[in-house]
Amino acid sequence: MLTLSNPSLLRSQLYINGEWVHADNETTFSVYNPATREKIIDLPNAGATEAHRAIQAADKALASWKQVVAKERATVLKRWFQLIMDNQEDLARLMTAEQGKPLAESRAEVAYGASFVEWFAEEGRRVYGDTIAANNPNQRIVTLKQPVGVVAAITPWNFPIAMITRKVAPALAVGCTIVLKPATETPLCALALAKLGEEAGIPAGAFSVVAGNKAREIGGAMTSSPTVRKLTFTGSTEIGKTLMEQCAGTIKKTSMELGGNAPFIVFDDADLDAAVQGLMASKFRNAGQTCVCANRILVQESVYDAFVDKFVTAVSALKVGDGSTEGVTIGPLINDDAYTKVSAIVRQATNNGAEALIGGSGKGLDKNFFPPTVLANVDRSMDVYSEEIFGPVAPVFKFKTEEEAIRIGNDTPFGLSAYFYARDIGRIWRVSEGLDYGIVGINEGIISTEVAPFGGVKESGIGREGSKYGIDDYLEIKYLCMGGV
Ligand code: ADP
Repeated sequence: MLTLSNPSLLRSQLYINGEWVHADNETTFSVYNPATREKIIDLPNAGATEAHRAIQAADKALASWKQVVAKERATVLKRWFQLIMDNQEDLARLMTAEQGKPLAESRAEVAYGASFVEWFAEEGRRVYGDTIAANNPNQRIVTLKQPVGVVAAITPWNFPIAMITRKVAPALAVGCTIVLKPATETPLCALALAKLGEEAGIPAGAFSVVAGNKAREIGGAMTSSPTVRKLTFTGSTEIGKTLMEQCAGTIKKTSMELGGNAPFIVFDDADLDAAVQGLMASKFRNAGQTCVCANRILVQESVYDAFVDKFVTAVSALKVGDGSTEGVTIGPLINDDAYTKVSAIVRQATNNGAEALIGGSGKGLDKNFFPPTVLANVDRSMDVYSEEIFGPVAPVFKFKTEEEAIRIGNDTPFGLSAYFYARDIGRIWRVSEGLDYGIVGINEGIISTEVAPFGGVKESGIGREGSKYGIDDYLEIKYLCMGGV
């Protein structure tokens, strides 16, 4: 049973135009706890009708919200931030219930998610235009930055709060309004955020939540609407491509945070203990279900054995179980499909000669729980090399030279995050510059923070979230040319 000290955070309706409502079609979908497989709640199952209604409401709210001075919008966001933090424990419980991650990680995510609200409350007040020297003495040129307008957001289940706040907060901060479709698996955190936003004073229609399992229908309504001027998406590269195609019809701005295939490179001059610590954090957070998880571990030949020994020892200390149990460090995978996919990737490797030094199959564990696994004797023909694993599985590859490590690191269509451990300053510069990634962790396994720009290159996406750059994605530049001066 999920008990909250603030029961009003467990919502049973959609939030559209400042009202808690049912879906027109009266149908529902269920939200499950991935650890126990028990149903948490049934929610109204939104479709295109609800999406259109929310878009209309956002359009109406836009007219007044964009006129509110930045300082006042910031005040609303700061209140929202405070309310999220005041309810950190309940939100964390809700998150662990619907998503499965260990409670300690959920608490950390609530704080991380809230940090975007605080950050963009501050940044929203620092939107500046330019004055530009004109070529004509009778002209003056200035630029304005204005909100793009109505935004649609589609978010994934792996970070049920942070992936929402880092879109909704910058949008609201600069005067946009926004309609959110949260992941089907994790709508409860989204609705709880909306409840707190309502209390904070976000006006009706400025932020609506259209939850449901008809992703294609809701997404179609969002992408085809000429009212929606921007789509911001976090999820798989495959769906991102589809959504970009759909947005072409109305030439929407898009922000895309897509998949990754992060190399984690350990050079011979690395501090091996620090590298193991960084790898544990990068690989096993959220049971390996993050887009910045280390995916391919590349270790220089001369330190390979020593590193792998230390790594396997650290992995053996992980504790798999229900995330709401104290001391558990690895929760379940999100659902059956995820389990099947991770199992297939591991099987494909072991059938072709890979050796599981620890873990390897979910036998003996409850369904959805996959054991932390380290694979040796892996090669580049295997899916563990080319696919985003999205599970607690670490394939360890051997390399000889720095050039080879960079080449292998870049041998993927993805370009979100990369990590490497080294101490030589020349090497640190060369490798940092050589890796084709949006984010590089150097002697650091955890790179996410609201103050830095998060985003990928190549097929990992377009745009940046967080930092001073994250606000640009929600602004248009208008150039004013004044003649006759
Ligand atoms: P993941 O593998 O993380 O579930 P997805 O890309 O499948 O990644 O899902 C991310 C988000 O995109 C979720 O909110 C999901 O419901 C939504 N989604 C999935 N398919 C579509 C689609 N065809 N149109 C719009 N949204 C979609």
